[in-house]
Amino acid sequence: MADADCLFCKISSGEIAADRVFENDSVVAFRDINPQAPTHVLIIPRRHVATINDLTDGESGDINLLFEAAAIIARTEGIAEDGYRVTMNCNAAAGQTVFHLHLHLLGGRQMTWPPG
Ligand code: AMP
Ligand code: ZN
Repeated sequence: MADADCLFCKISSGEIAADRVFENDSVVAFRDINPQAPTHVLIIPRRHVATINDLTDGESGDINLLFEAAAIIARTEGIAEDGYRVTMNCNAAAGQTVFHLHLHLLGGRQMTWPPG
């Protein structure tokens, strides 16, 4: 369920502090420590899953919960109507650095495409 060495498991449990903006039984969301936009929130499942590649049937429902939380947080951050981006990096080529599944919610500025 939790990985003792995982930073985001420790944030989920409260062992490590974070600037939390939303949480429920399944999901925790907190502000990124190195924000890339005026709103930059990370949304994680409480259940430890390292990458998208590691999702099993029983865990794929967590993905829905991450997106539901993203929509709620976008509204409370006041960026829902202007627009925002959600991104999930998987492994090295995408730049994943923390190996506990997380959805980036970015907004409050104009996004460019393609991403870097
Ligand atoms: P990724 O590169 O997709 O794995 O994203 C990991 C994100 O976690 C980066 O944007 C980091 O800035 C962020 N991060 C790392 N440590 C912390 C922390 N203690 N609290 C909040 N965000 C963090
Ligand atoms: Zn974890």
